[in-house]
Amino acid sequence: EKLTSQDAIALENQYGAHNYHPLPVVLSRGEGVFMWDVEGKKYYDFLSAYSAVNQGHCNPRIVGAMVKQAQKLTLTSRAFHNDVLGKFEKYASEYFGFDKLLPMNTGAEGVETAIKICRKWAYEKKGIPEHEAKIVVCENNFHGRTTTIISFSNDEDARKNFGPYTPGFVKIPYNDIEALKAALENEDNIAGFLVEPIQGEAGVNVPSEGYLTRAKELCSENEVLFIADEIQTGIARTGKLLAVDHENVKPDMLILGKALSGGVYPVSAVLANDEIMDVIKPGQHGSTFGGNPVAAAVAMEALEVVKDEKLAEKAESLGKLFREELNKYIADSNIVKLVRGKGLLNAIIINDTPESSTAWDICVALKENGLLAKPTHGNIIRFAPPLVMTKEELLDCVNIITTTLKSF
Ligand code: PLP
Repeated sequence: EKLTSQDAIALENQYGAHNYHPLPVVLSRGEGVFMWDVEGKKYYDFLSAYSAVNQGHCNPRIVGAMVKQAQKLTLTSRAFHNDVLGKFEKYASEYFGFDKLLPMNTGAEGVETAIKICRKWAYEKKGIPEHEAKIVVCENNFHGRTTTIISFSNDEDARKNFGPYTPGFVKIPYNDIEALKAALENEDNIAGFLVEPIQGEAGVNVPSEGYLTRAKELCSENEVLFIADEIQTGIARTGKLLAVDHENVKPDMLILGKALSGGVYPVSAVLANDEIMDVIKPGQHGSTFGGNPVAAAVAMEALEVVKDEKLAEKAESLGKLFREELNKYIADSNIVKLVRGKGLLNAIIINDTPESSTAWDICVALKENGLLAKPTHGNIIRFAPPLVMTKEELLDCVNIITTTLKSF
């Protein structure tokens, strides 16, 4: 039986927990840069499931790899070996330049994994007294939704009434190298610095050039692990394979998720070299689904597509074009203050208070005009289309966006 959009929304409202506030659109099909709603209306996707669908919706190579593996073997758990996991671990470790990989499923699990490894490393290698390790994090971070991760969020919605909170985190302003220096000097027992190379959820905050380089240097000087959460920024999104590659910074631990599967399956991973990863011994961490053969096959193909289709280079050049074209419009616009971003991870700042509904109203109007985007934090709209977009399609989207903005 075919549902109307209204029916589908009513079902979710009645039977689903109200933990999201989606745009009122019900999608039933996706292909490349497009999605279709249940009534058949076609949209450009300008969110890519928060940068998971970098390789395009239902990428035939990735779906093909998934179907092929799903018909052969889906899950063994890690009680036994499977014949795909090792190949994926080798492939991805070499691809990103690390000794080893630890596979998980969701982004938040990847972050939790990195926190656990960092703490264990601190006690067993750095010699921090047990229970004393601290990890430096940044204000306005977004690293996921688990109890530990929300403990160091400063978003009231994310935190309030979910305590008691996990201790052991020190919060400093983002993009403030002096604050990091001060934390490293003044606090004892710092084990790691967990950072988004560009803050995605906070509204695509791009740090000043040199910030990541200097932060990594400070971490090295103080024997502190530099942990890059590239769940949203990684895998070609910002115009390089990783956002840290813009400054040639090599993290001690790298966290990936989202586009690691091209959005067809939950796959996340933590990568590190042996002296760090080897602190984890049998029985100390794991996941029933982490490293399953479907995930492994999917992730390998998803990474292969990124390379074969030169998606980082595409993101770089399309992103430049996007900001150039939008800036032409913004020059005499009252509604948009600025556009910022790197590669195809961009945002516009709406000239209104964060409490206003203007950004939401613009997204509803964009939807009517055939383009799907979502506000993040009040008056900011993130623009992150699949990276398989053509130049003509991108210009078409710029036209939809500027035409829509002109009606406000
Ligand atoms: N870290 C960053 C930087 C993210 O952007 C996200 C998701 O938006 C996460 C972690 C959490 O990932 P997941 O929703 O898969 O748990």
